[in-house]
Amino acid sequence: MQEPALAIVYLYRLQQQATMDSFVYQSQPQRIIFGTGTLAATGEELSRLGCRRALVLSTPQQAAGAEALAGDLGERCAGTFAKAAMHTPVGVTEEALAVVRAKNADAVVSLGGGSTTGLGKAIALRTDLPQIVIPTTYAGSEATPILGETAAGRKTTQRTPKVLPEVVLYDVELTLTLPVALSVTSGLNAIAHAVEARYARERNPLISLLALEAVRALSFGLERIVTAPRDRLARSDALYGAWAAGTCLGSVGMALHHKICHVLGGTFDLPHAETHAVILPHAAAYNDAAAAEQLAPLAAMLGASTAGVGLYDLSRKLGAPQTLAGIGMKRGDLDRAADEIVASPYWNPRPVERGAIRELLEDAFVGKRPEPE
Ligand code: NAD
Repeated sequence: MQEPALAIVYLYRLQQQATMDSFVYQSQPQRIIFGTGTLAATGEELSRLGCRRALVLSTPQQAAGAEALAGDLGERCAGTFAKAAMHTPVGVTEEALAVVRAKNADAVVSLGGGSTTGLGKAIALRTDLPQIVIPTTYAGSEATPILGETAAGRKTTQRTPKVLPEVVLYDVELTLTLPVALSVTSGLNAIAHAVEARYARERNPLISLLALEAVRALSFGLERIVTAPRDRLARSDALYGAWAAGTCLGSVGMALHHKICHVLGGTFDLPHAETHAVILPHAAAYNDAAAAEQLAPLAAMLGASTAGVGLYDLSRKLGAPQTLAGIGMKRGDLDRAADEIVASPYWNPRPVERGAIRELLEDAFVGKRPEPE
């Protein structure tokens, strides 16, 4: 990880432009362990929680890692369940709950990305079992009290302290295998949490500062990961940034960008992280003038005149997908998407207007670079 002292002074000076008269800050109780080789501490952390029979969760693709962890945990492991899936289908949760009961598990250990973390949270919601999350992507779900679940093709999201994981073990070593394309889209998904935290209605000085730090660490890490995917320092920066960005997401409400991504993912089935990557520069550009005070330090950090331009150029440099057309959206669906976004918008610094949103979607469809100021 980069020496933070100078960066903090820099961020502190930028932050002076965005001081606040009043704010509310709710901290999230969570134990964070960050480092390399921290996976080995899983057993000790289970003991700290007073747990003796953990169920280890993963996706089918990460089943081997879950089995290896189960082997290391020995008697402290009740078994594995390797069927976690994107958007937390309730059917999978019910299957996992049957295993929890059959094996008399007293904790869940989620090894993987947002999909696996989602399953662990869904189990915790229904059982109050403690969770240890070992994140292997940059999605940030491990740091939030938010759970999105899908039943009969509909996704519903709730925010409740019941699903906030008790312990997060960040092990840089486990992220070395994350493919470059997924690292980039997952990293931009994390940056999106931080960007929207900057102008969130509930913003506060701590989270605003952390959001800048998240963008700094993630952009710095990702730029090196694309050429050296196994560079441990770059991976460490990105994972640290992902923790910071996830903490932002867990602490303040999200706005237009997340609304657009929920509609495009929920109704049009576009892929989660890629959709975030494509939309982010356009959502930032939409809000650049209305949230100028909050976004100017971010633009400066990215070396651009506006946040929208800076994020577009960053995403191009990283080789991220830049068009909705390229990730499966049909032009004929853009009108319906715009209707849905404006029908029940999230709070946003700039009013969410049908014409402007339709234009934003068109720009994202073709991958147009936002206009610099
Ligand atoms: P994911 O968890 O679906 O992982 C994508 C794929 O990459 C999976 O096949 C996984 O097994 C594999 N993978 C993960 N880490 C790997 C590694 N280190 N090496 C090799 N392969 C690896 O993807 P994601 O983007 O992390 O999560 C997306 C899900 O998380 C969505 O359902 C989204 O809604 C949710 N999410 C929730 C929150 C929240 O706060 N509730 C926040 C962000 C994302």
